[in-house]
Amino acid sequence: FLGGKTAVVTGSNSGIGLGIATELARAGADLVLNSFTDRDEDHALAESLAAKHGVKVRYIQADMSKGGECRALIEKAGSCDILVNNAGIQHVAPIPEFPAEKWDAIIAINLSSAFHTTAVALPMMRKSGWGRVINVASAHGLTASPFKSAYVAAKHGIVGFTKVTALETARESITCNAICPGYVLTPIIEQQIPDQMKTHNMSREDVIAKVMLQRQPSGEFATVDQIGGTAVFLCSAAANQVTGTTISVDGGWTAL
Ligand code: NAD
Repeated sequence: FLGGKTAVVTGSNSGIGLGIATELARAGADLVLNSFTDRDEDHALAESLAAKHGVKVRYIQADMSKGGECRALIEKAGSCDILVNNAGIQHVAPIPEFPAEKWDAIIAINLSSAFHTTAVALPMMRKSGWGRVINVASAHGLTASPFKSAYVAAKHGIVGFTKVTALETARESITCNAICPGYVLTPIIEQQIPDQMKTHNMSREDVIAKVMLQRQPSGEFATVDQIGGTAVFLCSAAANQVTGTTISVDGGWTAL
């Protein structure tokens, strides 16, 4: 049902972004994939998704830590009916030891990039008369954990930005929502496991069960396909009046 629509998904050469891009392609959308790298495998990924789902897929390199590159990504895409602000990084450290440059990078990539892409995409959506902005926030957009100051601040920020975008487009056929995943086993999570093992002096298995999934009452990781399916729902007619809100896919985390 998304035939003829173009979806731009930031940070989509791995993890949740790739999961969302794949489900949108399955629903018929043409894609623009993105990351900050420009490797043969990035372009090969675009070709393989195109061949598998019979849609047009381009890979456009742009560094989401730089406002100008965020804006250029949407301009180069040429059209943007569905914008998925997904690129994100993490750093885990107590506030006094938290490197200032990590703080700045997390705020830039996880929060400010969405402002820059949305600013360029909204006029395109208005011109075509339909649009969807989907921000990938987190359970950490609604709750907090120690040692994740920048991430929690950025994710709460993107939930606020989601609400403002929804209000500014409320009278149009444009919606803006945030998906709030709990733990999904992707590279960003894999990369946290060694730090958490050190911080908590625990084995890998104990970090997964007692630190990460301890917050997730289901005791299971969410999957990238489930996040992708949620994005497809937000693009459907059933979601026409769903705007300015958050959808948690977190195994019950935020119910605790
Ligand atoms: P990931 O590390 O697999 O993916 C992050 C993506 O962002 C990658 O494609 C990476 O290349 C890209 N990226 C990083 N820096 C970039 C930059 N400067 N410019 C452009 N692209 C950049 O991690 P993921 O788990 O798939 O995370 C995707 C999003 O989901 C993030 O916003 C993350 O905060 C959010 N999230 C993840 C989880 C989880 O448990 N995995 C939970 C909640 C929210």
